[in-house]
Amino acid sequence: MNRTRFAPSPTGPLHLGHAYSALLAFDQARQAGGAFLLRIEDIDQSRARGEWEDLIYEDLHWLGLRWPVPVMRQSDRLDAYASALDHLSELGVIYPCRCKRADIEAAASAPQEGVPQFGPDGRIYPGTCRHRAMHEAGPDDVIRLNMYEAAKIVPVLSFFETGPRHQGHHQITTQDLCQSAGDIILRRRGMGGSYHLSVVVDDSDQVITQVTRGEDLFSATPLHVLLQNLLGLPTPLYHHHHLIRDESGKRLAKRDDARAIRQYRDDGMTPDDLRALLGLTITADLDRPRVIPQG
Ligand code: GLU
Repeated sequence: MNRTRFAPSPTGPLHLGHAYSALLAFDQARQAGGAFLLRIEDIDQSRARGEWEDLIYEDLHWLGLRWPVPVMRQSDRLDAYASALDHLSELGVIYPCRCKRADIEAAASAPQEGVPQFGPDGRIYPGTCRHRAMHEAGPDDVIRLNMYEAAKIVPVLSFFETGPRHQGHHQITTQDLCQSAGDIILRRRGMGGSYHLSVVVDDSDQVITQVTRGEDLFSATPLHVLLQNLLGLPTPLYHHHHLIRDESGKRLAKRDDARAIRQYRDDGMTPDDLRALLGLTITADLDRPRVIPQG
């Protein structure tokens, strides 16, 4: 059975881009006679707010979406992330890192030509703490994936993409991720897991068969597939959709309150008006968002 999900972070109002993701995932599940699930990605408790979570439920209800309750919330799932980290520790593919941002900047200050400095997880970590063992982990350390060790266990990754821009079968040599992504963070300071770890564990526990989300996360997908392989979890289908942009071609951001769903609601638009604006029909099978007119 097809199971899709929408996984917003409650750190601001949902905007048109979120509406597009959620409606598309909902329609995909509905068309396949499957299920649509919601997940609240509040792993970063320093940024998550209860009022944004309430607004997510309100906005999605207004859009006509329904989902099974109780809703999965990442802040309730720290044990699940801890046991995934234990599993990775047994494989010998993670290590504690005590580098501060300034240390990383300093170590990376002599860039080599042709070697990327930034990957899907931000600045590529120079590997300073890679020799450290998990039993040395301190409370202020972050936990990183040792990409070189991971590549020995899972040399090749593959996944299937159904989105418009990257449609098809993707096969990636994990060794390439050593340069393009580096030793990504799996547990941040003061958090049970990083985005990459929690999304993989949660998609598996919610038995998601198709991950529908914005194209900006396509480059993170090989990292997720790698973690699935290391943890022995299934890889879902992926569908990365076009990003919704304003007339000037700029991506909509959360702080762009003018495009907040709540604003359209308050302006008297109906959910069908919003679907029409996004190029989605009532039984949407279109993946062609329009440019949103200014103002
Ligand atoms: N929580 C992420 C966001 O709000 C989405 C993650 C995902 O769909 O994988 O951007």
